[in-house]
Amino acid sequence: MSEESRLHRAAAHIETTARKEPSPGRDDWAAAPVSNAFGQSSERYAYLVEFGPFIPWIALPNGTIVDVGPRGLQKLGFATHEVLRAQWRSTIHKADRKVLQQAWRNANEGECALEIECRIRLADGQYRWFHVRATALRDPYGQILRWCGTAEDCDERRCATDKLRASEERYRLATKATNDVVWDWDFNTGQLTWGEAMCSQLGHVLSPETNHGDWWKAQIHTDDRARVSASIEEVISTGSSERWRECYRFRRGDGRYADIVDCGFVVTDENGKATRMVGAMMDMTERNRAAAALHLSEERYRYTIELCEQIAWTASHDGTLIEVGSAWSRLTGRPLEEALGTRLLRSVHFDDVTRLRSHWKQSIATGQPLNCIYRLMLQDGSFRWMRSRGAPLRNDTGVISRWYGTTEDVHEQRLAELDVAWRASHDVLTGLANRATFQKCLEGALQRATLRGGPSAVIIFDIDRFKLINDRYGHAAGDTVLRWIAERLTALECGTPARLGGDEFAVLLQASNQVGVEQQAHDIVSALHGVVEVDDIRIECQVSAGLAIYPLHGPTAEELLRSADLALYDAKASGRNCLRPFRPELRAELQRHVSMLAVGREALSAEWIRPFYQPKVDLLTGKVVGFEALLRWDHPTQGVQTPDTLAAAFDDRDLGCQISAFMQRQVIGDMRHWLQSGVAFGHVALNASGVDLRRPGYADELLGRLAAAGVPAAMVEIEIVESVFLGRDLDIVEEAFAILSRAGISLSLDDFGTGYASLSHLQRFPVSVLKIDRSFVTPLLADCRDAPIVNAVIGLATGFRMKTVAEGIETAEQALLLRRAGCDIGQGFFFSPARPAADIPELTRRRFSQCLSGVAALNC
Ligand code: GH3
Ligand code: MG
Repeated sequence: MSEESRLHRAAAHIETTARKEPSPGRDDWAAAPVSNAFGQSSERYAYLVEFGPFIPWIALPNGTIVDVGPRGLQKLGFATHEVLRAQWRSTIHKADRKVLQQAWRNANEGECALEIECRIRLADGQYRWFHVRATALRDPYGQILRWCGTAEDCDERRCATDKLRASEERYRLATKATNDVVWDWDFNTGQLTWGEAMCSQLGHVLSPETNHGDWWKAQIHTDDRARVSASIEEVISTGSSERWRECYRFRRGDGRYADIVDCGFVVTDENGKATRMVGAMMDMTERNRAAAALHLSEERYRYTIELCEQIAWTASHDGTLIEVGSAWSRLTGRPLEEALGTRLLRSVHFDDVTRLRSHWKQSIATGQPLNCIYRLMLQDGSFRWMRSRGAPLRNDTGVISRWYGTTEDVHEQRLAELDVAWRASHDVLTGLANRATFQKCLEGALQRATLRGGPSAVIIFDIDRFKLINDRYGHAAGDTVLRWIAERLTALECGTPARLGGDEFAVLLQASNQVGVEQQAHDIVSALHGVVEVDDIRIECQVSAGLAIYPLHGPTAEELLRSADLALYDAKASGRNCLRPFRPELRAELQRHVSMLAVGREALSAEWIRPFYQPKVDLLTGKVVGFEALLRWDHPTQGVQTPDTLAAAFDDRDLGCQISAFMQRQVIGDMRHWLQSGVAFGHVALNASGVDLRRPGYADELLGRLAAAGVPAAMVEIEIVESVFLGRDLDIVEEAFAILSRAGISLSLDDFGTGYASLSHLQRFPVSVLKIDRSFVTPLLADCRDAPIVNAVIGLATGFRMKTVAEGIETAEQALLLRRAGCDIGQGFFFSPARPAADIPELTRRRFSQCLSGVAALNC
């Protein structure tokens, strides 16, 4: 019988036995006859196979299984023949086949037992772990006869082990990954096991010494040690709590202390006794330091906010105030609730609400910072200027989530700014708009007038003889007059008034037609003619005005103002206290004025100016007693020109003084020459304008020049006109007169009776000669009504012990009449026109006595 068929039979036997009724007990076994040992052995084997936890198997040396415990196979769901057909190899998990093969080979070659764990696929397709053991049965020569083995299902154990291993791996990785120092304290052994972080985080080198609770306690800061030890002892000894937690300072490897939060979990046995404790130490040093720094910074911020005078606030994305600092109440005296939400707007000045809203709207739409100034109402109902500034906070997606900002009281600063702005656009004395503002208003009005079609007009006023008011009553009185004008203009409520400067005002007029404009202008001029009371003084005020209508008199604001200015100039020239509309001819007159200045400058620089001399004749003796130096200038092509062609130049302060000084030098030069030549010219009269006499130093300069030329001052006479007594700086004029008079220079008052000089002037100033104006001389004979004026002037002069000089004598009759009236000296074409210096020696030799005596007596 082959070995194989025997094994078959044995397997069949096992199967049959397994199906029998329950086996007899162990005592029955003991009672069985020894001779039946094989039977008993087989039976025991069958019993083991039937009830043992493993599947027995027998295989040929080549691995072909020839016998398998049937009950086990059933468990696995295989039929015996499936295994016996040697297909078992395919049931081994692919991953385990190599290991199995190697183990088999080792057992074979090393003549040792085979032991391996591998996965076997069951009938349902699932793999389970089996512990496979086998031993080779060998013949006396060591050849393998059979492999006898078992396969034990160890799937559950193996899976549990794998799970445990994975769990331990996870734990190991977790302790590695965390910075916390994990620890495990076994109270039975006293062993305290530390995680890696004790080295990496706290810098200790682990050793048997460190693995003990005493070592841990020794590292705790002495101030904390007793407390921490007591608390852990309590947990350990009483098991009062599963969990334990303490904060303390723990010495690191480098000696510094770390702030530790230590948490532990207590494991107890069935009696409630603590056997083990597992926990983790967290190093909070950095976190605590950061928290402390944050706390400090927050505290500093809070204090700063509390102390600073600004109201800190937070608004939602749409600008609704959700938080407001306590400075709100301090600054406004109102409860915080009144600042929150949209309630703030109720406290904002009505005129500023729209602006504040639109600033917010703009910032919310664009994300640009908010910056707005507005007035906020305080508890007492007064308003103060505030400035709110805010910036958006955006979230990760760039959307605005919050607005943070401050509101500060900028009241004083704002008032100062407004004041500066007001001063820049207004006249401080009168409160009216200034020139720049007026110009802007005018430009705007003209634009509107262009669209509307109706006329606009500018009227410019200038107070008449305002300098005189200042001189007579003082500057403060002058200021009162200026304010009076401003009040009147404002009260009239017609147009926009402004002070352009000095005593010049303007009003912008609007009317539906030209007649209406002119009527308004006249009304204004009339209204400005009145009496201003300053203290007890009554000052009469009147103005001259120029009117320019748009677009008739100027297409732009600038041109219109210039036209109104020209019209004002015209009003002044026409006698003042009147309104003059602009005329195009005025431009030509201005042009003439400008060209006079140009010619004057040229004549001066080219030295075209030279004096001519007109003799003054003693009306009794007919002798030449002196000359009046008169300005002439040589035009390169038109010959000798009279001074009226340069009239405007004399009124110009700088140019007038320069021309006058030039003339002086020429005249003094001529006088020196005549003196040296023995020419008996008598005296020479020089004309001095108000511009000359108001220039400090005029008199001294003249005396200096005379002295330098060796010309006696007594040979010089100064002729002035009445207007010199009018206007400002009269003290300078008076001083000049005094200096000249002391030096022996006589003062001659020209054009007497035509101007504004009063008798008090004759008393006050050292005038020694009165000149009778030609306007009183010319009509003599033609109209005898003028004789009384001449007589009166001569009588006045006699009374004041002054000499009289009549100018403009053109006829012998006029000369005789004046002589008969008592006039001392005559001057005019009748005797001689003004002659150049070269003719003077000859003129001084002439006698006019014959022509004076040869005229018949007049019936006058
Ligand atoms: P006219 O009739 O030709 O206008 O002669 P006027 O004396 O008014 O002379 P004008 O208008 O040329 O001079 C204006 C004067 O106003 C000159 C200056 O002394 C004076 N003035 C300018 N500003 C002020 C001011 O603020 N207060 C006072 N009181 N006087 C001023
Ligand atoms: Mg004036």
